[in-house]
Amino acid sequence: MRIPIIAGNWKMNKTITEGIDLVKNIKNITMDTDVEVVVCTPFIALSNIKKEIEGTKLKLAAQNMHWEDNGAFTGEISPVMLKDLGIDYVIIGHSERRQYFNESNETVNKKIKSAIKYGINPIVCVGETLEEREAGNANDKIKTQIIEGLKDIKEEDMPNIVLAYEPIWAIGTGKTASSKDANDMISFIRNIIKDKYGVNISDKVRIQYGGSVKPSNVTDIMNQSDIDGALVGGASLKAEDFIDIVKF
Ligand code: PEP
Repeated sequence: MRIPIIAGNWKMNKTITEGIDLVKNIKNITMDTDVEVVVCTPFIALSNIKKEIEGTKLKLAAQNMHWEDNGAFTGEISPVMLKDLGIDYVIIGHSERRQYFNESNETVNKKIKSAIKYGINPIVCVGETLEEREAGNANDKIKTQIIEGLKDIKEEDMPNIVLAYEPIWAIGTGKTASSKDANDMISFIRNIIKDKYGVNISDKVRIQYGGSVKPSNVTDIMNQSDIDGALVGGASLKAEDFIDIVKF
């Protein structure tokens, strides 16, 4: 059985003080749910939030990292630093990083390998643009992102990787993929994993949907056979909304 996982991606929002306030309001939800709940905070807040969630089951994630251990990469954060902080997850290849910071399937692959090396669980994002969907190229795009992103990733590491299907046209736009379309794409992704690693692994890998998830649509999304969770942007910034989503 796959444990549902709901992660709030704060993106470039919340000061440390605001982040602590938000987490104070949501952390107790983890005591009343079997859902794995994760907050993905800006780097600067990770250390303080880590202290704030001590003793709860709330998990902590970074939103990105470099693949190298250390070195002359001004402005970057390494897996060694994140490991030292004791974080649980790291988002890799979010579409905003691919779009604004030139991340490619190759850099995504390097980052996944590096996260695994340090025992940090990657949440790996894939998704198509509206143009790609309308041209009938969505499946090809996703397949390439999965195959190239997971190049040389070993079978035994796969259960620690969470995949997130996030159609780019649904992120932050208020438009959501229909739950059927989302489920169809997520089953397609699961089949790619099955072809590559076998059914034992594809049955274990959790695949989230992301794209304008909110309290009003989360139940329908989570009721789908292949969807194991949600990666939530905007609606994770308000405690009541995020709690409602976790309670789907
Ligand atoms: C995201 O940040 O990954 C996301 C899906 O954002 P939103 O929920 O705001 O669409």
